[in-house]
Amino acid sequence: MKFGGTSVADAERLKRAAKRIVEKREAGHRVVAVLSARGKETDRLIADAFEVSPSPDPREMDMLLSTGERVSCALCAMAINDLGHRAISLTGSQAGIVTDTSHTKARILDVRADRITSALDDDNIVLVAGFQGVSTAKDVTTLGRGGSDTTAVALAAAVGADVCEIYTDVAGVFSADPRIVPDARKLNVVSFDEMLEMSASGAGVLQLRSVEYARNHGVRIHCRSSFDDQPGTIVVSEEDTVENPLITAVTHSTGEARVTLLGLPDHPGIAGRVTTTLAEANVNIDMIIQNEPVTADAKADMSFTIPREDLDTAKDALAALAAEHGIEIRTDESMGKVSIVGAGMKSHPGVAAKVFTTLGEHEINIEMISTSPIRISCVVPGDKVPDAVRALHSAFELSGPDTIRPEQPFGEFA
Ligand code: ADP
Ligand code: ASP
Ligand code: MG
Repeated sequence: MKFGGTSVADAERLKRAAKRIVEKREAGHRVVAVLSARGKETDRLIADAFEVSPSPDPREMDMLLSTGERVSCALCAMAINDLGHRAISLTGSQAGIVTDTSHTKARILDVRADRITSALDDDNIVLVAGFQGVSTAKDVTTLGRGGSDTTAVALAAAVGADVCEIYTDVAGVFSADPRIVPDARKLNVVSFDEMLEMSASGAGVLQLRSVEYARNHGVRIHCRSSFDDQPGTIVVSEEDTVENPLITAVTHSTGEARVTLLGLPDHPGIAGRVTTTLAEANVNIDMIIQNEPVTADAKADMSFTIPREDLDTAKDALAALAAEHGIEIRTDESMGKVSIVGAGMKSHPGVAAKVFTTLGEHEINIEMISTSPIRISCVVPGDKVPDAVRALHSAFELSGPDTIRPEQPFGEFA
């Protein structure tokens, strides 16, 4: 069982989570629960760091950020003990979560769960601080924003859990962020393929790495509300999806920055150097566009998008290469991205046409486009994102009780 920040935000909610965990135990299950930091605690800790330093040391950042989830676990253990059960709280390190050394976005390499299993054998409820581990260099690491989901999935895999329940502040995974589209539809099941695309394109309800990990290790995820008992969304393998809608969801992100490199020498190897430089700085590139030179001076332009928080890192990393080749770096910090995801689009033409036409009809300018077999993404001005999400959600009729089936005609775009 994993409880997110909103679900443990105050004493009342924390006690409610404790009660829920105890009920599971009393129903005869052995329970490992992963907790997130309370409410906006992680944001607050990040702000504290930037108050004392313009570029906080990543190792110290992890020492700081890992405290939030420890607080939740210790408090929850106290509440559970008061309910007449034994609970023990563990840090990520104590729980045996071993990661690589990339501070603030570490990857889990191994889970040595013997301490958890022996605590379970001793009839304890085990509470594990989410979002953290210990690196191969014995330093505390954190797993990137939303990382408690990945902690939960990794522990579920390590202890061979029946299910990994992700308790959150919405009823499951929806056809769009319910904060933007109030009549979005709850999905009863979603395939790993679609969920990976959704998480990668901004649906923060499940961290991307948690979905990858679950698929690689065969963990069953059930994402559901911490406020009621209704079933939520189950993430299933492709063979188990009974529904195969054309379009499943509209996702968005507002945290994008665009970097444009003007005047790249047009010779083989230069794109490789740019991207290698960024990879070495641990910056993930999303979309890339390169324009071939149109003038005789044989210079090309390249634009790509990256997470906004990585913009300074990217600029620093590229500075030497830019100086060497006389490349001008331009940036735009206020980009957003809207995507549609659906396994059914693989075999149905006309989807892209409908996306672009819909955005055009709403006077939303598309700045960049990228696709996968089951996703179409458009970079748009950041302030247009909510409009774009609502327009696409309604154009593809996603709010009804059922989404459009592939066998249904597709209007003027069929
Ligand atoms: P937690 O603190 O429980 O981990 P998060 O804030 O990380 O919760 O994730 C839940 C939030 O994800 C929801 O409140 C919702 O606004 C957002 N969200 C974005 N896209 C979706 C979607 N497609 N379905 C459900 N929630 C979504
Ligand atoms: N507390 C961390 C965050 O806010 C991890 C998580 O909640 O999953 O990103
Ligand atoms: Mg989360």
